[in-house]
Parts: sequence; C-alpha cells; structure tokens
Amino acid sequence: MRTKIKDILLSEKTDYAVNIKGWVRSFRNNQFIALNDGSCMASIQAVIGLDTDEAIVKKITNGACLSIDGVVKASLGKGQKVEVVAEKVTILGECDPEQFPLQLKNRPSLEYLREIAHLRFRTNTFGAVFRVRHTLAYAIHKFFNDRGFVYLHTPIITASDAEGAGEMFRVSTLPADNPPKNEDGSINYTEDFFGRCTNLTVSGQLEAELGAMALSDVYTFGPTFRAENSNTARHLAEFWMIEPEVAFNDIVDNMNLAEDFIKYVIKYAMDNNREDLEFLSQRLAEEEKQKPMNERSEMGLMEKLEFVVNNSFERITYTDAINILLDSPAYKKKKFQYEVKWGIDLQSEHERYLVEKHFKKPVIVTGYPKDIKAFYMRMNDDGKTVAAMDILAPGIGEIVGGSQREERLDMLTRRMEEMHIPTEEMYWYLDTRRFGACPHAGFGLGFERLVLFVSGMTNIRDVIPFPRTPKNAEF
Ligand code: ATP
Ligand code: MN
Repeated sequence: MRTKIKDILLSEKTDYAVNIKGWVRSFRNNQFIALNDGSCMASIQAVIGLDTDEAIVKKITNGACLSIDGVVKASLGKGQKVEVVAEKVTILGECDPEQFPLQLKNRPSLEYLREIAHLRFRTNTFGAVFRVRHTLAYAIHKFFNDRGFVYLHTPIITASDAEGAGEMFRVSTLPADNPPKNEDGSINYTEDFFGRCTNLTVSGQLEAELGAMALSDVYTFGPTFRAENSNTARHLAEFWMIEPEVAFNDIVDNMNLAEDFIKYVIKYAMDNNREDLEFLSQRLAEEEKQKPMNERSEMGLMEKLEFVVNNSFERITYTDAINILLDSPAYKKKKFQYEVKWGIDLQSEHERYLVEKHFKKPVIVTGYPKDIKAFYMRMNDDGKTVAAMDILAPGIGEIVGGSQREERLDMLTRRMEEMHIPTEEMYWYLDTRRFGACPHAGFGLGFERLVLFVSGMTNIRDVIPFPRTPKNAEF
C-alpha cells in the first residue's frame, strides 16, 4: 500500500517498510532522488543502490513518475531527518527530459507557466497555491457549518439578469448561425431550450435571499460568470464566490460576520498550511526585490496575514473615504488618474490609496451613494446613501461586496422602477417582501481574491487551476 510522503516526513519514525509513489523533482549522482507526490511542499529523498539496473537508472529523469519500495531510515545527509532506502524502483511513467517543458526552462516565469497550466501543478509554487486554495475552501465550509449555516446550491443557469445587464454569458441551444426570429427580427427565445433567454449566473444572492427567508442562515459557494471585458490582474470571467445571507442581520452584524469570516479562514490556513505559506512568503520576497524600493511592501506575507488576523478592520463611511482622498498628498499632487468627488465609484487607485497608504490595513467602507449601487440595497434615512459595505484589502482592492437588503416592499419597488428593473418578472423576489419580510443582510466574497490575498500571488490567473479570461479558455 502506498504511504503519502507527508505522513513519512511528519512522523519521523524510522526502520519500517514503505511504498511511495510520486514524480521526480531531481536526481543527483545517479543515487539521490527527490520524489514529490503533492501531499506536501517537501520532497522525500530516496536513495537507490549503486547496483540498480542501468536501464531503470536511465529512466529516472525529472518529471518521471516512480513507485519505490524501500525502508525508511534516519538520514545521514543534511536537509532531511528521514529518507527512503530504495529496494525496488518501478518506472510508472517515463518523462523525456529533452521534451519536458518544465525541464527545458530554468526557473520558468509565472507568465510562461500560465501557457503550460496543465503542467504547472508540478512546480513548488503552484503545489503550494493549490493546497492553500483547498484549505481555504475547506475552512469556509467549516466556518459556516460550525455556525449553523445551511449550504445552498443556487442555480448556475438563470433567467434573471437583474444585476449584470450586458455582462452575462448566454446559455442557448439555438443554432448560432440561423436562430429562429420573431417578426420584428429579434431572436425568438420561446423556441430555445428553456423557452426563454437564459444566462450563466453572475451571483447567487437573489436566490440565497429566498432561502434565508426560511432557513435564516444560508450561504452559497459556487461558480460565477461575468462577461466583462476587464483584462485586469483581479478579474476572471469564471470565478468562485461565497455568498452568505442572514435573516435578522443588519449592516453592523454583516460587517462583523465578514470580518470574523475572513480572519477565521486566514488563521485556518496559517495553522494548517504553514510550510506552503512560508514558501510563498519567500517567493513573494524575491519578487519584491525586483521592484524599486518605494514600491515594495513594508510587510512580508506571513507578517501581513498575522497582522490582519490580529487587528480590527478599519470601518469608515464612503463620505469619510472621499474626504480622506481629497485631503491626501496624492490628490494634491494630482497623482490620481480618475476624478475624486462625492458620488464617484471608487476606482482601484482610490481603494489602494486608502488601504495601502492611509490605513495600511483592511478597510470596510459603508454608506455608498445609491446611484452607484444595486437596487436591492437598503436605503438609508438620508435618502442619498444605501447600507452597502465593501471590504478593501491591501494589494487586492475590493474583496467583499455586500449590503443590508431593502426589505420594505414599497421602497424596493420604487427603486426597481427608478432603475428600470422589471418588477413583474421579478415577482418571486418581491414575494419575500410580501410574505413575512424581515431585515436581512449578506455579502459576496470573491474566492480567488481571497486566495490571492492569502497566497501573496499577484495575478488572479495564478490562483485558479485553469483561468478563464477574455480570449483565453485553453485547457
Ligand atoms: P470589482 O469592482 O472589483 O469589479 P464588483 O463590484 O463587480 O467588483 P461584486 O459584484 O460586489 O463585485 O462581487 C462580489 C465580489 O466578487 C467582489 O468583491 C470580488 O471579490 C469578486 N469579484 C467580482 N468580480 C470578479 C471577477 N471578475 N473575478 C474575480 N472576482 C470577482
Ligand atoms: Mn466588477
């Protein structure tokens, strides 16, 4: 039976027989194999006898897959406590070093690795990233489960386009080259698979609200699709979002939940993926060395995570944020590309100024102007702002977008009419306000933005196995 390399390294026991399987990371002096099976960052050293069959030795190349039977022994060499003294080596999969892309490039760049995303799992960096991603996903479910939330699966195909007008991917089985037409020339969707126009979801929130009106505490964690053509280091066309929705919560409860949640999952990763995070921390430190002094971050990755877990997030209103920006040296020296005045949607340069230069910690901004936010956010008493909350994180910008929802039927329908959202089509959403409405609140956290933050990677394409971005759906 196969033993995982992680278990052998962790236990530090010696003098027992094992079988290990994995991929060769290096092979020195025709004797020392570093074998990695992805169970942890570290490879194990396997030592083969000098009398090993030459035909086999020739096939022990970087990237080859081996099965090794042997005995775990205390290691005499530096760098490891135990090693496997091999008794039998079986080649499971050969790997031609003349052709293996990871072998050909010495220190391949992240950009290059994106082009060979099917192989990049084999690198230390991506092994660490995807183990951390897994741990975060697990921690998210654990956080909500421990608090009695119900995990709700909201639909991926949806007919409502309330939120994402113009940014959605259409789902259709109509022939693209010759779709059935109405008399006025428009496409006749009644002949489509669902008998109407459908799209991939941009958010599970509206459906989650329906669940919260009975189960009280629910969350979704699923794929989300946005056809926005924003080719940035923080946007994907397909990403994963976590959306808790809680009956009886107001905006302050919502902020508390989001802050507790983010701290919990970061702490969980720090406790359970220390080796991976330390490696990623070093990687980031090296990347930072390439930057000019004044652009380097003041904290290393581990320090930053520690800091976030141990300090309160700053809480300010949108109006405060605008005033801080107007008072800033950056504004006075005309460093901002976009205009700053009450009413603007905060641009990424503004968000980054607030979190990276001014507060140097995560910031929760509340009370945004109603005109730049969605129809379902609860109107504040001033009639100008809504109970929205965005959480901005250093190096990332917006990581969470949420709000207390408008539970008052008259206010909600008025807002929908003002924003030209069809109230008849959305009867099912409005029914929650007709039949036993209550105050409630929720938020959406972009999973990949969280993984970016925790892993210290800088491009969102490097924290999802196979990124979907404009003009790119390879693999
Ligand atoms: P942004 O202003 O960064 O585009 P948004 O205002 O469109 O974000 P929301 O609609 O509030 O974002 O979505 C909730 C969360 O989902 C965001 O806070 C972010 O973490 C994440 N998110 C949004 N769009 C994307 C995307 N294209 N790729 C990855 N994550 C995203
Ligand atoms: Mn967006």
